[in-house]
Amino acid sequence: MPELILPVYSSRQCFNHCAFCTIPGATGGCYRKMPISRVFEIMCRLNEKYGTRVFSFVDETFEGKRMEQLADEINASGKTFFWHGETRFSPTLSTDVFNKIYQSGCRQIQFGLESYNQRVLDLMKKNTRVDWIDRNIHDCLNAGIPVHLFFMIGFPTETKEEALNTLAYTENVLNYSKQVCGVPYSTRGFTNFGLVMGSDVWNHPDKYGVSVMPKSQYEDLRLEVDYVSGTGLTLNEAKSLSDEHHIDFYMQEVINGSDTIDLPQRLHISEVTWILDSIHAVRYKGHLTKVKRRLTSLNPADRIWLDSKTSVVLVEPFAYFYNSEYHHVYAVSQLVYLKLARLLEADCSISLILDQGDLELTRAIEELLHYGLLNTNIDADYVMHDNGFQLVKSSFVKEVGRSKEGLRVLLSCATHRMCAVNDFSFALLSLFEKPITKNEVRDILKKEGLSTSEEQLNKLVDNCMKADILQLVR
Ligand code: SF4
Repeated sequence: MPELILPVYSSRQCFNHCAFCTIPGATGGCYRKMPISRVFEIMCRLNEKYGTRVFSFVDETFEGKRMEQLADEINASGKTFFWHGETRFSPTLSTDVFNKIYQSGCRQIQFGLESYNQRVLDLMKKNTRVDWIDRNIHDCLNAGIPVHLFFMIGFPTETKEEALNTLAYTENVLNYSKQVCGVPYSTRGFTNFGLVMGSDVWNHPDKYGVSVMPKSQYEDLRLEVDYVSGTGLTLNEAKSLSDEHHIDFYMQEVINGSDTIDLPQRLHISEVTWILDSIHAVRYKGHLTKVKRRLTSLNPADRIWLDSKTSVVLVEPFAYFYNSEYHHVYAVSQLVYLKLARLLEADCSISLILDQGDLELTRAIEELLHYGLLNTNIDADYVMHDNGFQLVKSSFVKEVGRSKEGLRVLLSCATHRMCAVNDFSFALLSLFEKPITKNEVRDILKKEGLSTSEEQLNKLVDNCMKADILQLVR
């Protein structure tokens, strides 16, 4: 549910001097901070003037002890604010502090992890210790606050084993967050180390065992420079390892994936706001081109399931369904929801639903299917039998490699479903960059003198829809 989120600075620049970072050099180490009472006053003013409840702290580093002071101010005021910010690992952050911070509305903390190896952290001049990292992440997640971990692969002299150690650690953190703490929103962001002009590594390459390569004549405005490292991962090895692990992580999600999502024990900012808004909202939002179908017109053997982007939250007297892709909200009574939840657990078919003879439940399911909150294979049916529906390629599609048979493997980064297509089908998919009907695709192919059978086109569309590569325009 869109809601105004305003950026706030509580401090400028940074007090640390990490070897890879350009901020200390660019600012002459001139760290300035605003009294927290003043920061809180600004939040209140913004709240009064623009009605915003959600704030994004854009400090380079929002010190842990200042986060705690802000939490104290917000908690004492009784205001309902939500916020997130970036900080450094610190021995002063304890369980009590994270609990206070959560209570004050903090719904994500970003940490500059950079590496999970003490040797590399020391070389980076991070001034961080691995035991602080362990403790801070554990306490933060157990307080219900999701983390985002930034790190890099291939800092000069870093070995492959060290890089793999950081990758494995962050993967464990994400699993721990979701499976043990019930906090499914923790994330990680990583890429290969980039040697940037103005950083300490660029100023003193000898100290880090690297040789900076001269720039070509076309790169005079490029801030990043190529380098050769005496030991550890080379630039290309670091890039490959980074790419490989982005894909690996998606692959694992594919294996572990399911058609339903785990509902969080604690809520993320986006959910808090949509629940608050939904309580006063109309029964549904959004406009669809999709024709509403009666369950009786569907194949009785078809099954229904909760869409992977749908969350359900119970707020008396309703159960609110929300789809984070279409932003549709639909409310049903909690009684209907309980009946539906039992059917979903039993992997129910259309015939089983109709056998209940419950008109209210049947109508609710038809509406939920119509708004994309529940799913069945009727979307594919529509497209198979009606060529007038528009389809579009999802913007979350990534080509992740080739299958043994030489087919291109496509991944939906949104749902982690995959499918494999041959080169011709891959070229055909480019026609779906903009909404288009199957009839229009056929016309284009005819004009170009290309022919594909009805069966081939249907198969491509069917497979790509099942893998969320193509979507029905709603
Ligand atoms: S990486 Fe972060 S902590 Fe380190 S100097 Fe830059 S802004 Fe400061």
